[in-house]
Amino acid sequence: MSSPYLKLGSTVGILGGGQLGRMISMACSELGYRSLIYCPEGDNPAVEVSSEKIIGNWNDDELIKKFISSVDAVTLEFENIPIRTIKKVEKHFTVFPNSKVLEIAQYRPFEKKYAKDAGIKVPRWWLINSKQELVNAIFQLDGPGILKTTSLGYDGKGQFKILGNEKIEDIWSKIESNEVILEEFIDFKTEVSFLICRKNNNEICIFPPTENIHQNGILQKSKAPAELPEEIWLSGAAHISRLADKLSLNGLMAVEFFLLDNGELVFNEIAPRPHNSFHWTMDGLLSSQFNQLIRCVVGMPFGNVSIINKWEMINILSENYQDIPNYILDNNSKIYIYNKQSIKTKRKLGHINRLLS
Ligand code: AMP
Repeated sequence: MSSPYLKLGSTVGILGGGQLGRMISMACSELGYRSLIYCPEGDNPAVEVSSEKIIGNWNDDELIKKFISSVDAVTLEFENIPIRTIKKVEKHFTVFPNSKVLEIAQYRPFEKKYAKDAGIKVPRWWLINSKQELVNAIFQLDGPGILKTTSLGYDGKGQFKILGNEKIEDIWSKIESNEVILEEFIDFKTEVSFLICRKNNNEICIFPPTENIHQNGILQKSKAPAELPEEIWLSGAAHISRLADKLSLNGLMAVEFFLLDNGELVFNEIAPRPHNSFHWTMDGLLSSQFNQLIRCVVGMPFGNVSIINKWEMINILSENYQDIPNYILDNNSKIYIYNKQSIKTKRKLGHINRLLS
């Protein structure tokens, strides 16, 4: 009888070599699979824990061909991989997630449209390609807002807040890309993220939600499970599963929401891959987000994601790297260091999963 899942010992190809790729590789190894990382030259912390690597540019067709012929299944850890590359790989394998989901996640106007179509409340926003469009949008917004790049923005990169009373010239001179969006500033109570894993046969697994604390656009700390009334938990779960259906998602997708005082969840953004705010799942659940992704990729049934304890996940950035010895002394803390070669400002260098109760 043939196996319902990919033969143990087969190779899972992972596009991208960052810390998420590193943790995906480790999950492959735990489940009995080999991993092959494909990534451009640079600081690639995934490479030292993967079985094999190919270092190449995203548009190196020969090396992508080599990647295709060396793997048995494919996933990715980085949503900004060129769609052309994913489409090449898709001719041979289902990619988790597929190019359609990636295309939407790469462009803020698309993700907002899909979220709205899935019945999720989205902040008011305007697409801006010219100074006149900026003038009109600021007039219509009539209050504080955030300017964001339409693509390649993460961890608050390419974003700045405006109060609405600045000189247009001053705002315009700060905008560095050709196209931006102006988004209404949301006065939220807190930020929460939801995570879903979905197979193409509609089978889904929804993780317990997380509450997040950001500073300057970067995640500092997450608490799990988010302390939410049951109806908010259920409404977030319903939102994320409707959106996953609309996108025909295969694999993982995190959705970040703003939670308002009135209990409403407002869409911020999606990430169709493992998400920083769910790193606590490595210790807090029987099946972590990385384990679940690989189970999905190789065709195994989903693992258990019931949460028993309370957890805190603290990001180790270059700025708080010196706090590590304190966590070493705390026997409720588990330390993950990514072994990055360069310690630039605000770089994510590791994380701590801390058992609260
Ligand atoms: P993003 O890269 O869009 O996730 O933004 C990073 C962080 O900036 C978010 O997690 C929020 O803390 C903050 N932020 C982004 N958009 C808004 C908004 N429309 N209103 C208030 N805060 C925001």
